[in-house]
Amino acid sequence: MNRKKVREILCSGETGAEVLVKGWVRTKRSSKNVSFIALNDGSVIHNLQVVVDVNDFDESLLRDINTGAALAVRGVLMPSSGSGQKVELVAREIELLGPADPEKFPIQPKKHSLEFLRENAHLRFRTNTFGAIFRIRHAMAFAIHDYFNRHGFYYLHTPIITASDAEGAGQMFRVTTLDALKPPLTPEGNVDFSSDFFGRPTNLTVSGQLEGELGATALGEIYTFGPTFRAENSNTTRHLAEFWMIEPEMAFYDLKDTMDLAEDFLKFLIRYALDHCADDLTFLAGRLREEEKGKPAEQQSMDLIEKLKFVAENDFERLTYSGAVEILKNSNHYKKKKFQFPVEWGVDLQSEHERYLVERHFKKPVILIDYPKEIKAFYMKQNDDGKTVAAMDVLFPQIGEIIGGSQREENFDKLVARMEEMHIPVDELWWYLDTRRFGTVPHSGFGLGFERFILFITGMGNIRDVIAFPRTPKNAEF
Ligand code: ATP
Ligand code: MN
Repeated sequence: MNRKKVREILCSGETGAEVLVKGWVRTKRSSKNVSFIALNDGSVIHNLQVVVDVNDFDESLLRDINTGAALAVRGVLMPSSGSGQKVELVAREIELLGPADPEKFPIQPKKHSLEFLRENAHLRFRTNTFGAIFRIRHAMAFAIHDYFNRHGFYYLHTPIITASDAEGAGQMFRVTTLDALKPPLTPEGNVDFSSDFFGRPTNLTVSGQLEGELGATALGEIYTFGPTFRAENSNTTRHLAEFWMIEPEMAFYDLKDTMDLAEDFLKFLIRYALDHCADDLTFLAGRLREEEKGKPAEQQSMDLIEKLKFVAENDFERLTYSGAVEILKNSNHYKKKKFQFPVEWGVDLQSEHERYLVERHFKKPVILIDYPKEIKAFYMKQNDDGKTVAAMDVLFPQIGEIIGGSQREENFDKLVARMEEMHIPVDELWWYLDTRRFGTVPHSGFGLGFERFILFITGMGNIRDVIAFPRTPKNAEF
């Protein structure tokens, strides 16, 4: 007999048929003559209620049906008289596929803290919260490919091992096959990378952008969607050492075109989540409400689904970095010295400033443009004022920066001059500079941090909870 997924059974609501269901026990309640088993197979947040007449089954079998155990149940779908579900499965045959020792299985039917579940990240998929998060994460990955495919972008796979440091920031993970204890040395006593695997120092990529630009200046519009690595020691709720980034790169786009794309793209993804992940979002919205119950009113965030609708339906605010600094300096928050970090034209905005603009001042997502060139990467297009570059950051509530992007400097001489000022090795990037030597065109792109976006969609507060196996400083378990 064909196995049916719980999702299919609950969606159709049909009764009368005999079906086979396989899944994991979430809870078991027993009375004298019947047991009710809540079975979850991961296809949907809801459990299927399995009704067991205890007189029809072996006592020892029933004893081994505990939270966490895997079952195959054959039975008949019946209208349910219980509350909360329309259908239930009246068991005829139960096979215990894999027992779970109730003394040892960590995920018990009670509220576990997110910290506890992080320590048990290998089993946390077995909870409603993480089931919902990872179904949504899947749907968002699918929607990203769908969006770009509809808009004529090509998916480009840029390398994970690279010899270049895209940002010039130098916080990279070295990739080497040299003996860490006894590396070969040059006559001067330095590590001899010429005998390393690639014959040169290599690292894990911090961005696919530079290679992405090569693709865009031939294919027109491309995007990358892959793992990205940063050896930055930032122990925040928004930084991972290994995260996934989506980086579209578009020939013939100026900064305005790029802002339009970023806004349309984000709104498409949010609408997709609202349309396709309603059950999981409803669950997460309830979770958030529960979590915020104790907080004072002004610290409570908007209902998750209201918030998603609000962002999908309203225009993002667009203004310059200079304008943002003005607003921050004139704010009561600033005057009362409530910002921890300085606000001064020329300094990078911190998350507290970004969130003030988004959550308190404009009360909607903000796109900031034209940042001081000193705080941005070498490849950004230099504006005519000589002070700023055509950069673009998209700022979201609760998160701050979710997208960083820019129009790229297409002028060979200006680009090389800036690289020299910033001590970027011009010779090593000869291949990148060829885009400006041969058929250079205005072009632009941005990077969306996938996990930051999933934080926003799910309403979760810690980036470690929206990636299956988080890598952060001192943490690479599982
Ligand atoms: P931040 O200032 O928040 O560290 P950034 O300026 O280093 O961000 P970019 O280099 O512009 O970020 O990267 C593009 C996007 O990638 C960011 O907007 C963000 O969404 C995401 N991102 C950057 N660093 C991380 C990280 N360590 N973990 C998760 N996502 C990240
Ligand atoms: Mn960073």
